Amino acid sequence: MIKYLLGAFLVFTFGFSAFAQHQHDEHCATSRKMAEQLEADPNLVTTRQQIEEFTARWIENNQDAERAVIIIPVVVHVVYKTSIQNISDAQIQSQIDILNQDYRGTNSDIGGVPTIWTNRVADCEIQFQLATCNPDGYATNGITRTETDVANWFGSDDVKVTSLGGHDPWPSSDYLNIWVCNIGSGLLGYAYQPGINPLLDGVVIGYAYFGFDSSSPSYDMGRTATHEIGHYLNLDHLWGPVADNSNCNADDAVADTPKQMEPNYGCDATYPHPSCGNGSNSDMFNNYMDYGNDVCLFFFTNGQKDRMRAALNGPRASLQNSNALNQCPVGVEEHILEASLNVYPNPASDVINIQSDQKDGLLTDARIFDLSGKMVLSESNIRLGFAAVQLDVSELKTGSYVLELRSENEVVTRRINIVK
Ligand SMILES: [Zn+2]
Repeated sequence: MIKYLLGAFLVFTFGFSAFAQHQHDEHCATSRKMAEQLEADPNLVTTRQQIEEFTARWIENNQDAERAVIIIPVVVHVVYKTSIQNISDAQIQSQIDILNQDYRGTNSDIGGVPTIWTNRVADCEIQFQLATCNPDGYATNGITRTETDVANWFGSDDVKVTSLGGHDPWPSSDYLNIWVCNIGSGLLGYAYQPGINPLLDGVVIGYAYFGFDSSSPSYDMGRTATHEIGHYLNLDHLWGPVADNSNCNADDAVADTPKQMEPNYGCDATYPHPSCGNGSNSDMFNNYMDYGNDVCLFFFTNGQKDRMRAALNGPRASLQNSNALNQCPVGVEEHILEASLNVYPNPASDVINIQSDQKDGLLTDARIFDLSGKMVLSESNIRLGFAAVQLDVSELKTGSYVLELRSENEVVTRRINIVK
C-alpha cells in the first residue's frame, strides 16, 4: 500500500513538473533533441566545443572578406500514409522559393521589421536548390516519396530509417536532407546542429507546415523550414539552447540578437517587448529564430549570418563540394526505375508491394522466375508510381525467386524470398 501511494505521489509530482516545463508549447524540438544526443554521446560534446571555437575564430578572421553566395543541395523525403501528407512537387518548390527569399532578405514582408533592428537585417547569401543528381549519380528531381504504415511519428527519428517505414538519408556531406511527414507531438519541426551523427543529420517538418499556402493557417508561409534550417546551420533560439531561460543565463552566442527570456507566440508581441534586461533592444520577436506565426517572422541578423556562413565554411563545408547539383555522371532518365524502385516486404508471403519513389505512372511489365529460370508469374502494363502496386504471390511456394520489371527503357531485377 505504501509503495502504491509512493508511486501515485511520484506520478503526480512528475506529471506536475512536466506540465510546468511545457507551459511553453514546444514548437521546435531541436534544443531537446540536441540535449539528448549530447547526454548520450560524450564525443559529441567535444565536437560541439570544437565547432564553437572554430565558429568564433572564423567570424573574427572573416569580417571583411569578400563572400560569394553559397548554394545548398536539398533532398526532400516525403513520407506519407494519407494522400494529403503526400504533398505535391509544386508545394515543395514553393518552400524552396521561400527559403531563397528569406535567406537573401528579399522576402516581400521584410518591411515589417521595426526600425530599431533594420540595420541588423542580413542578406545571408545562402541559396537552396533541389538536387539534380542522387547519390548513385542518377538524375533526380530532388524528391523521394515513401508510402508508410506509420500514422504518426511522434517526433521520432525513425522517419530517417527505411526499414522502420521512413527513408534513409542521402549522404549528409552532400545533401541537406529534409523529411516531410506527420511529425506529431504538437511539433512543427526540428533539426540537428552541425557535428551530429550523419544518420540523424537534417531537418524534419510536419507536412502541414511545409511550403506556401500549406494546410495550417498560422504556419502557411514556410517559415518553419526557414527556422529549422537556421538550426541546421548552427543557430540557436534567441533564448539560447535551453527550454527555459527564466534566469537569463543562456544566450544564442550572437552579438546582435538581444538576450531573451522565452519564446514569443502568435503575433502577440509589439515593440518594445523587453526581457532579461534587454531594454530598448527588446526581444527580437520578428526574428526567424523566435516562435511567432509565419506572418510575423521577417529576418535573420548579420550576427546570425556570420554563424551560418561559418558553419558552411567549417563543419558543413563539404556541401560546397557536392556533386548533387552538377551534371550527373549517369544522368539519364532510363535509369529512373533502377534508382527509385522499392520492393517490400522481402521476404513476403502473400503480397509484394512495388513502388517508385521518384516517378509516377511508369508503365512496366512484371515477371517472376524461380531459380531454375522457369517463369511462375507474369503481369503486363502495371502503372508503377508513388502508391504501391501489389503483386499477388500467394500461389508461390517458399523459396527464392527473381522479380523482373521491364519498362520501355530499362530492365531491373530484384531477388525476392517467399516464406509461407
Ligand atoms: Zn527551433
